[in-house]
Amino acid sequence: MASIRGLIDDHPTLSFEFFPPKTELAGEKLRATIDVLEKLEPDFVSVTYGAGGTTRDTTRDTVVDLCADRRFPAMPHLTCVGHSYAEIHDLVDDYQASGVHNVLALAGDPPADGSPNPGDFRYAIELIEAVRERTDLCIGVAAFPETHPRSESRQLDLRYLAEKLDAADFGITQFFFDADDYFRMVDDLAALGCDAPVVPGVIPVLNPVSVGRFAAMNGTGTPADLWQRISDAKEGDERVEVAVDAATQLVGRLLEGGAPGLHIYTLNQSDAVIRICERIDLRRGI
Ligand code: FAD
Repeated sequence: MASIRGLIDDHPTLSFEFFPPKTELAGEKLRATIDVLEKLEPDFVSVTYGAGGTTRDTTRDTVVDLCADRRFPAMPHLTCVGHSYAEIHDLVDDYQASGVHNVLALAGDPPADGSPNPGDFRYAIELIEAVRERTDLCIGVAAFPETHPRSESRQLDLRYLAEKLDAADFGITQFFFDADDYFRMVDDLAALGCDAPVVPGVIPVLNPVSVGRFAAMNGTGTPADLWQRISDAKEGDERVEVAVDAATQLVGRLLEGGAPGLHIYTLNQSDAVIRICERIDLRRGI
């Protein structure tokens, strides 16, 4: 099964992000969604990891099953804050032994209640080192075009991001709505001597309230005119069309500007993703 860096080096990639199902029924729905999205021939998919390991087993099982059953590689997200070295070693050894070839190495967030972090890790770069020590997994990392919200400054965040990308194989961004933010980050990384590929993450705003909440947590700007158009649209097909239109325009700018692929935050739904992919041609731009 392919290393994602190899795929990105070969052609602009298409990838989808899912969260692990909480119930048997949600698991069936996710499999049905993936059956539909598989027809779009994604290069890879990724499965999120609940902060502090709350979805450790479901993320693991979902990814291992996908790697065994599907034509594309599946990549687990893995956060290190709150974990011990022994826990991380067990998990990555298991991935390596279970046919998984890629991992998205993340810090994760410290506990929201302010309690001390009981684990051995603080930053994602420490997780990269732990994964490299034990395995030959291909390693992706998170990038924040608008600066990570816990950063002291944009300049420092870029320096840490460049170090992290140099130690890893590729990046995937948090979602954002202004292509200029992405290109500015890529240019600033290049000025620091870092040219690892960073795939932009795009989310169709189907639910402006929940996407707005995520955006606030991540320090992502939400364009008032888009939020207005989505709120004005009738729930259902009309709203999906507005969200798809906005996402497609953003993707067009990203691909025309040379982005090395497209990562779509699917929220485990297929409709908007299909409509976006029908309107773009990854090889030509749009
Ligand atoms: P880091 O790279 O460690 O950075 C965190 C902060 O520390 C930044 O401000 C950075 O500038 C600073 N920093 C980094 N290194 C140093 C250093 N050496 N010294 C001082 N400061 C430093 N969260 C989940 O819980 N589960 C998921 O599945 C998940 N998936 C994600 C997928 C993507 C594509 C993205 C973009 C984010 C995802 N997140 C997920 C969120 C992520 O875990 C949080 O945003 C977390 O707060 C930061 O993770 P990171 O890996 O970017 O951390």
